[in-house]
Amino acid sequence: MHLVKENSEMDSLWDSEFIRRHDVAGPRYTSYPTALQFHEEFTHQDYLDAAARSNASRMPLSLYIHLPFCASLCYYCACNKVITQSDEKKRFYLDALIKEIRMKSADFDSGRPVYQMHWGGGTPTYFSEAELTELWFEVGRHFHLVDAERGEYSIEIDPRTMTPDKLGLLKGLGFNRISLGIQDFDQRVQEAINRVQSYRQIEELMDASRNYHFRSVNFDLIYGLPYQSVASVRTTIEQVIELSPDRISLFNYAHLPQRFKSQGLLPEEALPPAEEKLQILCAASNQLLEAGYVYIGMDHFAKPTDELALAQAAGRLHRNFQGYTTFKDADLVGLGVSSISLINNVYCQNTKSITEYQGLMEAGSSPITAGVVLSTDDEIRRGVIMSLLCQNWLVPSQIEEQFGIVFNEYFRNEIMELNGFVQEGLLTHQGGVYHVTPKGRLVVRKICMLFDIYLPQHMKDGARFSRVL
Ligand code: SF4
Repeated sequence: MHLVKENSEMDSLWDSEFIRRHDVAGPRYTSYPTALQFHEEFTHQDYLDAAARSNASRMPLSLYIHLPFCASLCYYCACNKVITQSDEKKRFYLDALIKEIRMKSADFDSGRPVYQMHWGGGTPTYFSEAELTELWFEVGRHFHLVDAERGEYSIEIDPRTMTPDKLGLLKGLGFNRISLGIQDFDQRVQEAINRVQSYRQIEELMDASRNYHFRSVNFDLIYGLPYQSVASVRTTIEQVIELSPDRISLFNYAHLPQRFKSQGLLPEEALPPAEEKLQILCAASNQLLEAGYVYIGMDHFAKPTDELALAQAAGRLHRNFQGYTTFKDADLVGLGVSSISLINNVYCQNTKSITEYQGLMEAGSSPITAGVVLSTDDEIRRGVIMSLLCQNWLVPSQIEEQFGIVFNEYFRNEIMELNGFVQEGLLTHQGGVYHVTPKGRLVVRKICMLFDIYLPQHMKDGARFSRVL
């Protein structure tokens, strides 16, 4: 009931005027501090010390595995990927990845349960069925994966590399969640972005996913692509609603062709202008809310019965590099080129170069090339930011208890601005608790930015962030 009420309250909020006023650029806070704070002075010993503290904490583990290859280039893509037709290249990488799995697993006590694992890319499903099977069993041999009933095992799927039978194999291995890259159903848009896949293909996969009883299916959609209009995206969303995925991610396309060369291949003149992009976002969001989806926050929608919505309602939602997750207390071990780990109070990242990654693994050396050890201040601010982003509230007394500070003194400067957000109706402040209102949830990143101590310097240095909305 609570969610339904909030939904109806949110219906009227997606208006262009509100969005225009609050649409600033800022970090997405998949981590705090953000990756801009990672530095190369971070040492292997820093990582080992963190792994030892992590073992002492006996916290469960979460795994992320990066599989970077794709068969063809989607022009909008900003991921760390390699386009190849070569099976040899994929095999060579898989061997390096298996070496890393063996090496890193030795740093963690073998009994520590893994409750969550995500395979991302690139296109994980571009690997053959035999290779995917080999990789799954290799992970299972070196980490203690809990059974599929209790664990959350997800994989990103490019529908063009997937068949209903292959989906059956994934379920058989133990995956219970899938995420399909849809982006848009419009033929003209698909041709412009060099990613053509039919509605029929997706329908077949949805039927198969139901037959195989996957716990949750996510669709990735993008707005702001060439030839998109309010009307064309409305049709795509209608088709999406018909297919009824459990979760939907509606991402903003950021056009940065100087940084991501392939984006220069998009017909720039066909990109919807900023004003129309806003209208597309409002219309698409309202359409999803009207269809009964709940707005989770930052691009994410879910059915009220989905675990993501239930976890948020119960205050159990967490955020990591894959977006929102239902597992709050776990250390994250990243495996594969460019992957990021969060171990105890340390973030560390593997090299972003696949050649270097494979070379390091062949030499039996650590692939970690950057990271950061969090200070106590980082941990306090991370606690505040994650609470706002995931639970939609901030309980100063909890932060005080956890970190032994006096909230109003520690955040003397931030409190003034926080109260400004209360005046604006983005937050309420009652009984000593700040609640993010439905309106505030649309721009929650802006509220979080207030607590980011590094942001003013990054802005001065000209760092480029995506828009809040
Ligand atoms: S969008 Fe996905 S499938 Fe397309 S090139 Fe990027 S990583 Fe590969």
